[in-house]
Amino acid sequence: MGTRAEGSALFLFQGEVGTVGKTGKGDYHAVSLSGGKDSTAMLLMMIERGMPVDGVFWADTGMEFPEMYRHIEKVDAYLFRERGLHIHVLRHPRGFEWLMFEEPKQKKSAVERRIRDGVPLCGNGWPGIRVRWCTGQLKTHLITKEVNRLKGEYDAVSYVGIAYDEPGRCKGERYPLVEWRVTEEEALRYCYGKGFDWGGLYEIYHRCSCWCCPFQRIDELRKLRKHHPELWGRMLEMDARALAQFGETPLGMFRKGWTVGLLDARFEAEEQGRRFCRKKKETGAEGSALLFCNETGIPDADAAD
Ligand code: SF4
Repeated sequence: MGTRAEGSALFLFQGEVGTVGKTGKGDYHAVSLSGGKDSTAMLLMMIERGMPVDGVFWADTGMEFPEMYRHIEKVDAYLFRERGLHIHVLRHPRGFEWLMFEEPKQKKSAVERRIRDGVPLCGNGWPGIRVRWCTGQLKTHLITKEVNRLKGEYDAVSYVGIAYDEPGRCKGERYPLVEWRVTEEEALRYCYGKGFDWGGLYEIYHRCSCWCCPFQRIDELRKLRKHHPELWGRMLEMDARALAQFGETPLGMFRKGWTVGLLDARFEAEEQGRRFCRKKKETGAEGSALLFCNETGIPDADAAD
C-alpha cells in the first residue's frame, strides 16, 4: 500500500491545469480537497447548491489509509458524474519515504550542522514539532503552487474546507462551511447522508490523514495497531530504519522518548493487562528508574491537517 489503486480514473496532475479546467481567461473556482469530512462535505454542498467548480485538487502523501484512496475514487466518480471533472491528484515526485530517508541535504548550513552533530547527510527523519517537513513538501506547497499559478492566469478563487467550529485556521481564502455555519459533526453527517462513509474510518479514528503521523493522539496509534495491523507493521519497519539511520536523535525517534517499537510493547502490555514500564536513562544522581506511562506520556499535539 502507500500509493493509490492502480488503474484509477483519477487524473494525476503533472501538466497544465488550464487544459483540464477552463481554457480561457476569466474566473476559476478551485477546490482544495483534503479527503477528510470537512472538505468532502464542502465539495458535495457546493455541487448541490449549483456553485461553480472548475478544478478539485487533492495532495496524495502516499501514506493515506487504503479506505481514503477508495473514498477519493468515489468522490472522483461523483464529481465526474455531476460536473464532468476529475480530481487533480498532486504528488511529490519522490514521496514520503524518500524525503524521510534519502533526500540529500544541500544547504551549507544544514550540512555543517549535521556534520557537527554526527547526523547522516541524507533524509529528514520522522517529522517533528520543530521540523514538520511533510505537510509543506507533500501537501501545502503542491496545492499552493497550483492555486497561485491559477491566480496568475485566472481570476481564481480557492475554496478550503474548514468547519464552522474550527474557524481559527482561516487565512484569507473562501471557507464555505464557515460561511454556512456547518460544524464538523454536521459535515460528517451530511457526507454519510450522501453515501460517503470512508469505509468506516471515522467510526474508528478521530482523524483520517497519514496513518504514520507522529502527531496523532496516543489512542489513535493504539487503534491503528488494532484495526490496521498491516500499516502498524509498516510503521515498525520505518521505525527500525529510522533508528538504524539516525539513532535515538529527534530524527530517529518517532516521538519524544518513544519509538514505534516501544509503543508496540506498551500496547501489547496493555492488552495483556500488564502495566507497561520502561527504563529511564541513567542519570547519575538518580540512577536508573522505572518510568511508568500514562495517556500524557506522549505530547498530544495532533496534526493540524
Ligand atoms: S498528517 Fe502528519 S505525517 Fe501527514 S503530512 Fe500531516 S503532519 Fe505530516
